[in-house]
Amino acid sequence: MAGPSKRNSASSDPAPVGVARSLVLERVGRCCVCATGDHASPVATGEDFEYDTSDDTFIAQQCARCGLVYLDPRPAMSELSKIYGDAYHAYEFTPERFGIAYRVRAWLESQRLRRWTAGLPPDARIIDVGAGDGFHLSLLSRIGDWSIEGVDPDPTAVAAARAKGLTMHLGVLEDLAFENETYDFAILIMTIEHVGDPVGLLREVRRILKPGAKVGIVTDNTGSPDFALGKRRHWGGYHFPRHWNLFNEHAMRKLAAGVDLEVVSLKTMMSPVNWTYTVHNLLKDWGAPGVFAKQFSLDKPLALGLFTLVDSVLTLFGRGALLRVVLQKKSGR
Ligand SMILES: [Zn+2]
Repeated sequence: MAGPSKRNSASSDPAPVGVARSLVLERVGRCCVCATGDHASPVATGEDFEYDTSDDTFIAQQCARCGLVYLDPRPAMSELSKIYGDAYHAYEFTPERFGIAYRVRAWLESQRLRRWTAGLPPDARIIDVGAGDGFHLSLLSRIGDWSIEGVDPDPTAVAAARAKGLTMHLGVLEDLAFENETYDFAILIMTIEHVGDPVGLLREVRRILKPGAKVGIVTDNTGSPDFALGKRRHWGGYHFPRHWNLFNEHAMRKLAAGVDLEVVSLKTMMSPVNWTYTVHNLLKDWGAPGVFAKQFSLDKPLALGLFTLVDSVLTLFGRGALLRVVLQKKSGR
């Protein structure tokens, strides 16, 4: 996926030849789970293989104590509109663009949401943190009559969700100051890897959950074989420079313990996406003709089908591409 709209915008506003398109980067210096950088060392370097939003080479560090992989340095908050720019939204997940892949994913995600929400009372309040354009909220609205709302910091995504009639809050959760103990269930699906402070975010989620309420998390799994294969550079889950904190099972359990949430379940689940982009990034980096790299993207059913098979087998052995986690706020007191 070479990002045609990015190329279009670049041609209308060409950078002078020889001037690098660099982002303002910030030093992180520590693993957010262990609160120290003493055990971290570089594990990967890579560029924005998917959207080509800058010329920077990024470094991922891995904490030897908990296993967390984190981007350091990472783009400053002031650069978010550049790394999630028009090119990013050009690939928003719509049935028109993604056809059968959309329908298969919607069905799979609906099944998971049904399991997660089974037993919630009819008057339950559910919040989707990092709701994007409202994909999961729309699915939830077809499963039950609950009160559902979403949070996202991206104005384009929030506008798209509101256009579907969904209730959305624009901003980051920690700034929105919801009342204590308001929600019966929270979901963070492909969210926690994008945020700078997963600990602060989960503390805030815990604060707004009712006692005994749960939060469902889905995120990339660095305990997977595709990470092992591509971890020096090409792994699709790096999504340079948009994934800032990446977890394996151990780091996730340590994160949960640190914010006083109990692990109800922690499993892996199938996803062809990181596999597909690992191959895409490798082909692009090796200078393969664009026509080959383009075969490995989310709108190409062949690659998705192939890696769905591969990752389904791995998931049987607990080595799927994503982590699927349910945490619970303790009841009582
Ligand atoms: Zn750590």
